[in-house]
Amino acid sequence: MKVFWSDKQNAHGGARFLRCGQLVASPEVPERSAAILSAIAQSRHTVHAPSDLGLGPIERVHDLDYLKFLRGIHAHWVAEFGEDAAALPNVLSDKTNPSKLKPPRSLVGALGYYIGDLAAEVRAGTWDASYMSAQCAANAARLTRQTGAASYALCRPPGHHAGNGWAMGFCFLNNAAIAAEELRLTYSKVAVIDVDVHHGNGTQAIFYERSDVLTASMHSDPDFLYPFHSGREDETGLGAGIGHNLNVCYSKDARDEDFLTAFRRVERAVETVQPDALVVALGVDALEADPHSGHKITPDGYIEIARRLKAWSLPTVFVQEGGYLSDQLGPTVASFLSEASDD
Ligand SMILES: [Zn+2]
Repeated sequence: MKVFWSDKQNAHGGARFLRCGQLVASPEVPERSAAILSAIAQSRHTVHAPSDLGLGPIERVHDLDYLKFLRGIHAHWVAEFGEDAAALPNVLSDKTNPSKLKPPRSLVGALGYYIGDLAAEVRAGTWDASYMSAQCAANAARLTRQTGAASYALCRPPGHHAGNGWAMGFCFLNNAAIAAEELRLTYSKVAVIDVDVHHGNGTQAIFYERSDVLTASMHSDPDFLYPFHSGREDETGLGAGIGHNLNVCYSKDARDEDFLTAFRRVERAVETVQPDALVVALGVDALEADPHSGHKITPDGYIEIARRLKAWSLPTVFVQEGGYLSDQLGPTVASFLSEASDD
């Protein structure tokens, strides 16, 4: 399988986030992609630098004013507050109702308008890294729609918490949505299947009123896990999108059999909608070895999902989401891709 990755994605690093009242180092670090690349190097997958497809694929998903903000905010922030000041908001807007608001002209006000939580600190390299991460997704999807072959975008920063006009949860540009829109240029119906332990709230919001993209996320119950305010099973879409959004929740104590039971519900939704192509938002942070979320899924649980995805024989783009540093991270992703693709 072709893997898309650029070293420029390492430009985003050193970010912090608020945990238990403390601003601490983010686990979303460059070493994550290094671990995945190391495992991929021992497989038959081949790593390719993405071509620069420009802003077009990104602008199909994200609002122009948000992109302008994200590109420029760090330089403005440093000019006003100094290099060491955390570019984090202190008053958050209601992201679900942006039409009622205008972005404030002050920098910290604009941060609260465009950034959804205190886990999306903008650093000097955030735009460049996010841009290249999005290019990986766009390149992978272009390859898949042109050849039908599966592809993998090693996206870092990840993307599934980012909405059309907001960043949150370590995510700045929604790579899975960018891949889905690229696939839509060829395929009339696309499904985004999100197996990250956290609800893919950004992806849900982007496609919530559309029937051409099914979004199906299986994740740990948001009563107890980030992002808390979305991901419940009664969120099923709006308007034309009714019936085209599926959330399947499992508990923090879930074992592999529960994980696969949740996936069975995703399978049924996909079988009903009959998409022409898939995007798999491949977060592996439900792994028992993952240091961040405290769940109990084994690598075998993920790899069984890979086998089931392969059985559909659909053009598929795999997009990396969460999964933090552990000895299971790289091997699980590499094995998943091998199992899903015969490589
Ligand atoms: Zn996650």
